[in-house]
Amino acid sequence: MKDPHNKALGIGTRLVGAGRRSAWTGTADHPGAVVNPPVYRASTHLYPDMAALRAHPANVDGLFYYGRRGAPTQWALAEALTALEPGAEGTVLYPSGVAAIMGALLAVLRPGDVLLMTDNAYEPSRAMGRGLLRDFGVETRWFDPLDAAAFEAAICPRTKAVLLESPGSLTMEVCDVPAFAALAHAHGLTVLLDNTWASPLGFPALQMGADIAVMSLTKHVGGHSDAMMGSASAGPAWHRRLRLRAQGLGQVTSPDDASLMLRGLRTMALRLAQETASALAIAEWLSARPEVARVLCPMLQGSPGHALWQRDFSGGCGLFSFVLKGGTSAARDALIDALKLFGIGFSWGGFESLATPVDPAAIRTASVWPLPGADPDDRFAVRLSIGLEDPADLIADLERGLAVWGAAA
Ligand SMILES: *Cc1c(COP(=O)(O)O)cnc(C)c1O
Repeated sequence: MKDPHNKALGIGTRLVGAGRRSAWTGTADHPGAVVNPPVYRASTHLYPDMAALRAHPANVDGLFYYGRRGAPTQWALAEALTALEPGAEGTVLYPSGVAAIMGALLAVLRPGDVLLMTDNAYEPSRAMGRGLLRDFGVETRWFDPLDAAAFEAAICPRTKAVLLESPGSLTMEVCDVPAFAALAHAHGLTVLLDNTWASPLGFPALQMGADIAVMSLTKHVGGHSDAMMGSASAGPAWHRRLRLRAQGLGQVTSPDDASLMLRGLRTMALRLAQETASALAIAEWLSARPEVARVLCPMLQGSPGHALWQRDFSGGCGLFSFVLKGGTSAARDALIDALKLFGIGFSWGGFESLATPVDPAAIRTASVWPLPGADPDDRFAVRLSIGLEDPADLIADLERGLAVWGAAA
């Protein structure tokens, strides 16, 4: 493909061609000789002579220099992710999603700054506010992602940045990102968005107002539960600072893992479309069950956040939660234990389905659980990551789980 970064091409077409520069998939004699960039395992990069070493430009991406700056395998992945993110000049890779979030925050914040963080942020992001950021003199304050007025009121002269995540972890509230970003920019804040759930395929983060779009590639991009990585994409100003901070922190990613991520990326649109369709079918089925009080799936009509999701998103994924009617924690454990097709484990976005218990009350500080208007007894929730199994089989499995729950509740 001659120009995989042409934004007029469809997303599937761009996913196939992105990052496959012929110089990275072949030799000078035979550019583009193979389909995928080889795995360049390299710490030392060699120079032909001293003149070449002395002439090498410092701090330029995409040129052999030293292993910490990566080699074609990592460059191809970063370039592919940039091609998928409208408005991005570049992408920095990190060894995990958590490293990407912290790397981006450390590029933006200084001692004495205040960070505003959405109350439904991924729990390890919240832990950064209580831990490392606090230790380095940054204060974190949390806000309700559904209350723009409270968000604006929380901005003070020391507020430097806001970390959004939409839909938020566990409870899936959809935040009005364009509105929050406009408010933030009016007060001079930098907007970071954890866009792991939608990826740029479902939500063009920078176009929607984010200055820095962060993703855990561990989830949808990898897609096979066998590698971890993170990314931060941004326009020219922030990309430069992200790179410098990542290099200062010594962040490197392995070429083997970058190769796995590139492999996952090629099929990502297909997997997301299938997982979205299956999740929607399962969410619909769950919403009609007497044991279920509420389904928290923005893609589902009638679910909280659906109107905003329809307005702003062009795709979904397989991750959503549901709240059980009454019951006990032990009954919920029995439900999850009864499932034969769902693994019990963290992470999501893999080809295999997972189920985990959700207990937001233990985590949240600025919003309430159970959700506003909900019966206070309806507080035991389950998060599902729907994979590529046949949805009818997953529904039969959940039916078995709900029967066990009904008997135990
Ligand atoms: C998993 C996850 C992360 C962290 O990614 P890792 O690669 O596991 O470090 C960040 N944000 C969200 C929303 C996640 O679900």
